[in-house]
Amino acid sequence: MRVLSGMRPTGRLHLGHYFGVIKNWVELQEGHETFFMVADWHALTTAYKKSEEIPKNVEEMLIDWIALGIDPNKSVIFQQSKVKEHAELFLIFSMITPKSWLEWNPTYKDTKYNILKLVDLDLMFKGGLRDHVKTFVAKLPYKVEDFEALEEHLLDNITEALIHALFEGYLDKEILKELNVSKRDFYDTDTYGFLGYPVLQAVDILIYKAEAVPVGEDQLPHVELSREIARRFNGLYGDTFPEPQALLTETPRLPGTDGRKMSKSYNNAIYFADTEEEVRKKVMSFFTDPQKLRKGDPGRPHLCPVFFYHKFLTYPYRLEEIENDCKSGKLGCVDCKRLMLEGLENLLKPLRERREEIYKNKRNLPDIIESGTKKAREIAIKTMEEVRQKLKVG
Ligand code: SF4
Repeated sequence: MRVLSGMRPTGRLHLGHYFGVIKNWVELQEGHETFFMVADWHALTTAYKKSEEIPKNVEEMLIDWIALGIDPNKSVIFQQSKVKEHAELFLIFSMITPKSWLEWNPTYKDTKYNILKLVDLDLMFKGGLRDHVKTFVAKLPYKVEDFEALEEHLLDNITEALIHALFEGYLDKEILKELNVSKRDFYDTDTYGFLGYPVLQAVDILIYKAEAVPVGEDQLPHVELSREIARRFNGLYGDTFPEPQALLTETPRLPGTDGRKMSKSYNNAIYFADTEEEVRKKVMSFFTDPQKLRKGDPGRPHLCPVFFYHKFLTYPYRLEEIENDCKSGKLGCVDCKRLMLEGLENLLKPLRERREEIYKNKRNLPDIIESGTKKAREIAIKTMEEVRQKLKVG
């Protein structure tokens, strides 16, 4: 079975990337024909103002991919922008895709605002946003009955709320100054390219006639859209594209140092490129059960991100013991974090060494990407010959 997946180059990978995506890719390499794409054109949809950062991010991401087990001898590793046929098929698919399919794509509206984010989200919290919520609410053109509920909602949906507030003009310049943010800190995604990015995703899959795409639940609508575009093309011009299936992968959301989802934007991630000392500092600063203040206090492990790591990563075989000792107070959080650090280092040390090795030989990376891209391009060229023939244009 031919499987295709890709990742936007956003730089160094963290533990969350590994457990959310790469681990699954490594498993898929065995027994499937796997294509892994560096989606650098997709990176432009949100980072077009900083395009000069993309090549460095591509390099960092590739080093991590290979260090984590993506094997160029087993998989086709290629770069989207080097296969220009993607652009041609994108144009053709754009002609046959109804605008409403994109506008009604359930993830579009949410993503439009969620992806608009502050360069450093923590600035907002440090800036004391809570203190300003009242001022913000007072400026709303409607009466607010339940201020507390609104405040909670805003703080839960902080990015979206700020974006709305900023662009609707409800936040004045003084508040923005205090929050240390400006319009420049937001990525502007009100573009044709952003609306159309699921069409480009459909191209990425269909141009290789991939039969399966590994995705999380939130990506299912995009695979469905690819299937619809394939059906529409096949219906108009004759059978050309197989309808790709979604390979749904359930992965636990790895918490970062502050307990929120691990993410570069939250500045709470542990990177594979981190030194042992950097990992130690991050682990020892991990959020834990706030009610367990000192050794002896009974803890609530099911609420604690450190326990999450023990469960899924570091000590699944000692879980009962850790759980009981946390609950009884026998185990203190500092010792528990030391355990986590020890377990994490067992995993990270060999990966870090491998990463350093690949980094030293990074002059080989262009050859790896060129060789994969050559294989990808051959297939894309063949598909496009068939498409032009069926279309009778081009
Ligand atoms: S002892 Fe461990 S599991 Fe329990 S609250 Fe502290 S860090 Fe979390």
